[in-house]
Amino acid sequence: MEDIRDKIIEERSPGEDSMDLLWMTSFWEVFTDCTIELDSQFVITHLRRKVDSSSVLEGIVGRFFLDIIAEGDKSLVLENLELLKTGDAPYVRFPALSEFDRYHRWTLVPIFHANEFSGCQGVAIDITEQTLKEITLNWQRAVIEEGSDFVVISDINENLLYVNPGAYQMSGYESESNSFQLASLFTPEHLRLVRTEGIKAVIKNDIWVTRGELIKKDGTSIPVDQTLFSIKDEKGEIILVATVIRDITSFIEHEARLEEARSAAEAANVAKSEFLSRMSHEMRTPMNAIIGMTNIGLTSPTVEKKDYAFGKIDAASKHLLGVINDVLDMAKIEANRLELSLARFNFEQLLKRVVDVINYRVEERSQQFTLGIDKAIPRILIGDDQRLTQVITNLLSNAVKFTPEEGSIHLEARLLSEEDDKCFLEISVTDTGIGITREQSARLFHSFEQADAATSRKYGGTGLGLAISKRIVELMGGDIWIESEPGQGSKFIFTAMLSKIPDSLNGELSKEHFPEETVRSSAEAYDFSQFTILLAEDVEINCEIVLALLEPTKINTVCVDNGLQAITAFEKNPSKFDMIFMDVQMPELDGYEATRYIRSLPYPKAQQIPIIAMTANVFREDIEKCLAAGMNGHIGKPLVLNELLAVLEQNLRADK
Ligand code: ADP
Repeated sequence: MEDIRDKIIEERSPGEDSMDLLWMTSFWEVFTDCTIELDSQFVITHLRRKVDSSSVLEGIVGRFFLDIIAEGDKSLVLENLELLKTGDAPYVRFPALSEFDRYHRWTLVPIFHANEFSGCQGVAIDITEQTLKEITLNWQRAVIEEGSDFVVISDINENLLYVNPGAYQMSGYESESNSFQLASLFTPEHLRLVRTEGIKAVIKNDIWVTRGELIKKDGTSIPVDQTLFSIKDEKGEIILVATVIRDITSFIEHEARLEEARSAAEAANVAKSEFLSRMSHEMRTPMNAIIGMTNIGLTSPTVEKKDYAFGKIDAASKHLLGVINDVLDMAKIEANRLELSLARFNFEQLLKRVVDVINYRVEERSQQFTLGIDKAIPRILIGDDQRLTQVITNLLSNAVKFTPEEGSIHLEARLLSEEDDKCFLEISVTDTGIGITREQSARLFHSFEQADAATSRKYGGTGLGLAISKRIVELMGGDIWIESEPGQGSKFIFTAMLSKIPDSLNGELSKEHFPEETVRSSAEAYDFSQFTILLAEDVEINCEIVLALLEPTKINTVCVDNGLQAITAFEKNPSKFDMIFMDVQMPELDGYEATRYIRSLPYPKAQQIPIIAMTANVFREDIEKCLAAGMNGHIGKPLVLNELLAVLEQNLRADK
């Protein structure tokens, strides 16, 4: 064994004894946590530990040195051990984590016998505490260095000692730029605030937080939160001031969006509750008329008075039905479920029918009404005639409503352009009424909006008609707008794309399928005495209404209460019945089931007999459901005599 004393430079006063190896060894032991000896295979052969050492290396004698080292450090340790074997290094020193979760700095010295590596001796110092501190410092530094926050350490006079990359990035200055100064990053007022209140708070040992703006190098500014705090020495003297700044642009934007959403929700709430109260008014007013006039009718002794009351009840119920239909249409629009259904129709007849409906109100108000139809518009068109009627009726009834007595109203239909299978129409309603301001007209087509509160008080209305019209027109590939001046009248214009049939067929079809309608206003004109219908309807008053409406036609009617009874009645005597009116919602067995059952019966009559749904479910999908169940048609409630007669005529082919 080489003598360790050969490797020591010894300086001593002349005459003093040389240093004693034993003394050195004990000195080592004071400063090290353990001494260790390994054999040539690096098996631990000897260990001396200090009793009070925090190091827990124990039970390691007899094990390979590498085995007590934590996985992550093994390769580093192996490299060092290899170095020892070659004799190239007089010693090796390395830090390593042991399997006991402690960090040690190992110093190992090789031993050679006759030039043969025979093992090593060494010491370990437990450096766990320092290492952990270093690790903590490292990640703390990383947080500051790599975080996006602006961190600056300065002395109390704003001389910069440390600026993190985030600060350069946020402010737009180059790092190492001399022009980066705290003072140039804020407005003079903000700087004054920092230098007075901020520094005062920091001196008092407080953390000072403020919100402001940071002026970037390019002159633009961003909203920031700024925090100031002090760093003190052991004596409690302030040596440094830390400034941390956070960019809150996205936070502010988020807050603004939230605020916007909140006020939009509030506005929607207000609009909805205004709508509800308006709706309540709109429904209660005709209801009031119906109930009041019913009372008057019931108690009036004279037929004239009763007739007068019925007339009023009739008008009020029709108005109420209109309100209900508008609300339901709006609900469909809100649920995105408004759809068009296509059919062939005669355009001129459609306009005339609309005019017929509106005419009596025009006459009532002594208004002038004129109609202009462009002769170039094809007679037969394909589209949703009911919805088209709805839009024109709405515009016309608004015109009547908002035009004083003796005013005039003009309905005009023009062909804008035409292609092989399509035509683009413009329909306008011009009145000499109260007119609307530009500002009001922008809102009219939104749901629940009316020109102003005073208008709605004076004229009533739900404010839904134009919103519904707009949606319908959009579905038809068109648009709707208004030209108006207050006091000068209004012109509502809409466009719509409709399909047409090939020109060669147009003339023929118009005669064949669309004969001029002969309006029969009374049921007396029909004689259905040779026919019997089965009516399945659970609500007694509804049966009564059908019976009363059809009485003049002398048709025979058998009434039953539900689907089950309808089946029983039909099966008992199928040949007796010529047609079935089937309510949909009924107890025991509903109209769909009853129809399906009848259609499944094994004789031809069960398949042939016309079954017509008679129901208050009037949406397109309701009608489709009826047809899918095997019914032939649909008639909506409330019943309209003319529709009822048309269905009978169509299905019974009665003698006129
Ligand atoms: P309603 O008539 O049921 O209130 P609309 O949506 O049809 O609902 O109309 C909305 C509003 O547009 C009306 O309340 C009225 O203020 C205004 N308006 C509609 N048509 C006219 C018109 N021809 N002249 C003046 N104002 C009109």
